[in-house]
Amino acid sequence: MIKLNNKSLYEHPSMWLHCLSCGLDYQVPGNCGRRSCFICRQIQFKRLFRKYIVFLMSRPELRMITLTQPNKGELYRETITDLRHNFSKLLKRKFYVEKISGGLYVIETTNKGQGWHVHIHSIYEGKYISIRRLVNDWSLINNVHCVCDIRTVDNTQSALSYILKDLVKTPQIGGHIEDYDFAFRGVRFISCFGSWYNKIKPEPVKSKCKFCGSDSLMSWFEIRKELTIMEKSDRGTFT
Ligand SMILES: [Zn+2]
Ligand SMILES: [Zn+2]
Repeated sequence: MIKLNNKSLYEHPSMWLHCLSCGLDYQVPGNCGRRSCFICRQIQFKRLFRKYIVFLMSRPELRMITLTQPNKGELYRETITDLRHNFSKLLKRKFYVEKISGGLYVIETTNKGQGWHVHIHSIYEGKYISIRRLVNDWSLINNVHCVCDIRTVDNTQSALSYILKDLVKTPQIGGHIEDYDFAFRGVRFISCFGSWYNKIKPEPVKSKCKFCGSDSLMSWFEIRKELTIMEKSDRGTFT
């Protein structure tokens, strides 16, 4: 459960829940839409880990790759779009189509004072690819020498935590919050490709009341909606 102090509650969008079992109301954080937001990132981490771990644990032959580009002076929305485009170019090459059956990836970005370090972390299901080959192909697509990494996944949970690790801390972007939020607005945190595309559905999870543990919760938004419908139908019977 994300704990909000009064200050963050005041600043962050939130919603009220009502427990139909114990009758108590309490506030939970909503989504503010900012990629840099520490509260939303913690919620995302838990949601994404839960969504992907069961599927990943069921897959054989997982490998993890990191694809970087040289640091950039500025971060634009195009920086992210171009990186995604280049990655999909790589995956469409015959060699990679034969080696990789499916996978997922995240785009991570840091700025530690030496420009923007934008890179991809990906977990894929498939065959061995040599680091030499990967560096060569990725560098050719980007028209510049790029550093890459590839390794076998021995522990799936650690691998998923590793690629989501960026979410559990405040992004290291040296105060460039606006550029970062703008570049990532609306960008999915995890994207799937190949046979994994559209295959992984979230596990249905029912929220539980933080006071009594019951899962009979309703948001005040839903309650108000129901009340309006009831009011309308009541009026209908008298006219
Ligand atoms: Zn309750
Ligand atoms: Zn937020």
